[in-house]
Amino acid sequence: MIQKTLWSPDTCGCQIEYQWDDSVPQDQRVHSVGTIVKACPVHQHHTNKEAHYQDVLDENQSKNKAIGLLLKTFKKLDGGQDEIKWRFEADRSIVLSHPLLTQADKETMNTLPKPDIIKKVKVE
Ligand SMILES: [Zn+2]
Repeated sequence: MIQKTLWSPDTCGCQIEYQWDDSVPQDQRVHSVGTIVKACPVHQHHTNKEAHYQDVLDENQSKNKAIGLLLKTFKKLDGGQDEIKWRFEADRSIVLSHPLLTQADKETMNTLPKPDIIKKVKVE
């Protein structure tokens, strides 16, 4: 059966309804975009709903992966996930910060290769 999910990412104000088939095994499921319910000012320029969804998804996953990488790289941040601050720059690159990070930590993180993170990430 086709299921619908309304997704409100925490990375922008968009609301996107996508559809998936619950008769397909979970690891083979494909999400297809149903409706762009709400387009935020950042993404309202998209005229193609698939491209719109992909852009929002890339930003959201990049933010989550960047936080994951930060936690994995610096053991002292263990359990301190709530203290990680993140925001987007005007060019939609991601800026992370945490009070325990030293200047050397920031340089380490900023020079680490991030092959699976699509958006640009910076720590400050
Ligand atoms: Zn948006």
